[in-house]
Amino acid sequence: MKKKLIIFDMDGTIYLGANLFPGAKETFRYLKDHNIDYVFFTNNSSHDLEFYYQKMTNFGIECDLKKNFYSSSEVTISYLLDRGVKDIYLIGNKSLKKKFEKHFNLVNEYQKERKIDAVVTGFSTELVYKELQDACLYLETLDVPFIATNGDYRCPIEDGLYIPDNGGMCEWMRLVTGKKATVMGKPNPEIVYYLAKEFNVSLDEVLVVGDRLYTDILVGINAHVDTLCVLSGESSLEDIKAYEHKPTYILDSIKSLPDLLK
Ligand SMILES: [Mg+2]
Repeated sequence: MKKKLIIFDMDGTIYLGANLFPGAKETFRYLKDHNIDYVFFTNNSSHDLEFYYQKMTNFGIECDLKKNFYSSSEVTISYLLDRGVKDIYLIGNKSLKKKFEKHFNLVNEYQKERKIDAVVTGFSTELVYKELQDACLYLETLDVPFIATNGDYRCPIEDGLYIPDNGGMCEWMRLVTGKKATVMGKPNPEIVYYLAKEFNVSLDEVLVVGDRLYTDILVGINAHVDTLCVLSGESSLEDIKAYEHKPTYILDSIKSLPDLLK
């Protein structure tokens, strides 16, 4: 299998919490030595990319903050800019707002006469009720796009527990407004197209690697690129058997990825 760009999920694929999987470091060394580009992509828009860069660097994986790290917020920004969006109502953490401020006018609160171009939501661990209320009021009164950086219902934390994520919040907003969010992160293929363009490779030169079927694997299937499901995280062989879409490849972990690329 010849590939020029590999899009990696992180949690459950490269590490679990604070623990790097055995062989991961050697796999990235192999990619580096063979001039295969890799990017780390996360649906999580609540952390700065700097956070992941630090984590990877501490693990001893060679990477560059600008070149190797992308989150659903970059894709969302590029999608909105392509469509001429200027004024938005945004729900998200401070770090997300800082990123969006560079490109858009962030409207502070709902005002009857105020026109906006889109309502945008990200995974916010700093959410307050007023934000949810104002976003819903805009969706109820204006016919504007409703864009979500990611559609994950829940986010895994330690001890096998979960906390509410953006997709869950968007479902709540849908029940209130009747409007359904367009999701930008995985499994929307937009990110694969965006990265293929950034790295100047064709889709058949791209491989998507991850542990979650309905985001990591589905994004590759939606973009018609090859996918590798690793069994080191969320999915088991039984889950893959039961899932309607099949990954192109299955491995226990990314340790044996170099063999696949030979
Ligand atoms: Mg994962």
